[in-house]
Amino acid sequence: MGYCNMSDVMSDRGVQWVVADPVEKNVFWPSEALKKKANVSDPKIYEIASKDPVAFWDNLAKEGITWFKPWTETYSWNPSIPVYKWFVNGKLNISYNALDRHLDTWKRNKAAMIWVPEPLNEQCRVMTYYDLYREVNKFANVLKSLGVKKGDRVGIYLPMIPEVQIAMLACTRIGAAHSVVFSAFSGEALKTRLIDAEAKVLITADGYYYRGKGVNLKANADLGIEGTSVKNVIVVKRLGTNVNFVSGRDLWWNELMEKADAKCAPEEMDSEDLNFILYTSGSTGKPKGVEHHVGGYAVQAYWTTKWAFDIHDEDIYWCTADVGWVTGHTYNCYGPFMNGATIVVYEGAVDYPAPDRWWKIIEEHGVTIFYTAPTAIRMLMKLGDELPKKHDLTSLRLIATVGEPINEEAWLWYFRVIGGGRCPIIDTWWQTETGGTLIHSLPGIGPYIPSVAGRPIPGIRFSILTEEGKPTEIGEGGYLVQNSPFNPGLIRTIWKDPDKFKETYWSVYGGNIYYTSDGGFVYDKLGDIRLTGRVDDVMKVAGHRVSTAEIENAITQHPAIVECAVVAAPHEIKGEAPVAFIILKSGYSYTPELEAELRKYIDKMIGPIARPEKYVLIEDLPKTRSGKIMRRILKSLIKNAPVGDITTLQNPESVQAIKERVGYKEPA
Ligand code: ATP
Ligand code: MG
Repeated sequence: MGYCNMSDVMSDRGVQWVVADPVEKNVFWPSEALKKKANVSDPKIYEIASKDPVAFWDNLAKEGITWFKPWTETYSWNPSIPVYKWFVNGKLNISYNALDRHLDTWKRNKAAMIWVPEPLNEQCRVMTYYDLYREVNKFANVLKSLGVKKGDRVGIYLPMIPEVQIAMLACTRIGAAHSVVFSAFSGEALKTRLIDAEAKVLITADGYYYRGKGVNLKANADLGIEGTSVKNVIVVKRLGTNVNFVSGRDLWWNELMEKADAKCAPEEMDSEDLNFILYTSGSTGKPKGVEHHVGGYAVQAYWTTKWAFDIHDEDIYWCTADVGWVTGHTYNCYGPFMNGATIVVYEGAVDYPAPDRWWKIIEEHGVTIFYTAPTAIRMLMKLGDELPKKHDLTSLRLIATVGEPINEEAWLWYFRVIGGGRCPIIDTWWQTETGGTLIHSLPGIGPYIPSVAGRPIPGIRFSILTEEGKPTEIGEGGYLVQNSPFNPGLIRTIWKDPDKFKETYWSVYGGNIYYTSDGGFVYDKLGDIRLTGRVDDVMKVAGHRVSTAEIENAITQHPAIVECAVVAAPHEIKGEAPVAFIILKSGYSYTPELEAELRKYIDKMIGPIARPEKYVLIEDLPKTRSGKIMRRILKSLIKNAPVGDITTLQNPESVQAIKERVGYKEPA
């Protein structure tokens, strides 16, 4: 008979996926239910991989990716340049792997994407894999009709609408490299990136909704293409508003698509052909055009999606990252689509029409896997528990973070209030340069420890070195580096700047060691790693290395503090001394008692050496558009040095407010 048992259908809802460690406080492990469900739950995987990482990746590449032609050599490497290649002479197409190969399976009719527009009165748009396949093929033909060929670069300046993934997959289908520029960047920021990439075509939109208002994106795009090599601008009609339109140069997406054929053969790409260029956040200075190549990137994106998020067929997966960042590339497009997953894409602001919008989306779409950034978590935490508690979040089974070290307080809030104490938190460390996640616990193996990312994933080799290049002991801070064989998705070079590539990543310890610019320490015998932030953010106080992340972690444990950033200020005696910028929770005020309590926290957790010389009470920290705190600016403000370019900040007004607070005088 046609009956089904509802408890089978909904059996994952509210399941306890983690258990507390019997001895260690705030250490969690996968429950039996999670071990049973997880894609990986046997810790032997680490051992097998480390015996022969190249053979390990060789197997993964065969199993996870469909190749047109097999490779002749799995890994090659020459440290003197340095050059490393994966799956040499192998041929594939990443768009084919994301789309075509699902079409002969039941996934043909599975939802690939649930798009959630910002306005509440608009319908969500659901696209199946077959729908997405047809749109991508059509748009690939559109690009071809405009003369875009394999090896060309295409600029994409689109908001979070389905056309952004369609455009990316269409580019890679025909072998053109995309350069996605975050839609909230200015026309100027777009221009420098288009010039650098020498883009032939730009894809943009008339606008998008943000906090209930239509944003005119086309006006910025017009500024951005001035003086570039862009011949045509393809414009998606999102708002239907009147925008400047230059006939001949500008073309409407929908008009081009009407005429386009829905079949476009995928280009056969070499494993080491350029897949895309993406500029780093620029937290430490000028953004670098990171080059990712097809084969290694595809293999890593596919497997890390499966591992980190434990993706299963029935999951509804939501990564809140904008496609303008690498997280959006790998985990909002290529990784999940290659896995045939269903993704949620949301157009608008986290707090529109109310600050519970994200929780509402989780509830309404039954999101099971949720991936976001510590800054967003802290911001939402600041608003209290009431907002998430208004919503049923029991569909969630795994929650994850990326972008910054997550402090214990925020981790525990995320764990308790959002994950309901049921879900593992996967804290993924990686960089634009690494293409995919590299350091985090595997959901089915654990452990999950606040502010400890976990072990390097199977098949890669990380170490933490002293300044002299010696391995560090457990608990001893040092520099995070990678040893060969390098992860398949690692940056191949910096676009048009091989010298910068060499200097940035291969000059500190020589050509054999990839330098991440991040610091950390091995936390326990298992080899779990705690990241402590950028190396530039580590200070030397009276000869001791103290990391800003550790002090921040201690300060934010105090119930009065919601967010804080610590930077080093020059000090006559100690060399450097920490200064803490703090944001108070509403209802608290800054008093000598509070300062005394903070001192106690720091003494207890790190030691008196780490006591800030000064606390600066502020309302907002300067952040990049990707939500990272710009400590470089805080440092300049403290030293009364020029602050430099602040145009890529999300909140440039915060800088003026802090200037007033610290009595900054513009340098002559
Ligand atoms: P730029 O290199 O231009 O200064 P950026 O480093 O901010 O910019 P991204 O590649 O977006 O650009 O960020 C990667 C960095 O983010 C890492 O090197 C690390 O400092 C930080 N990071 C990312 N994820 C984590 C994490 N889970 N824990 C700690 N730090 C993280
Ligand atoms: Mg970086």
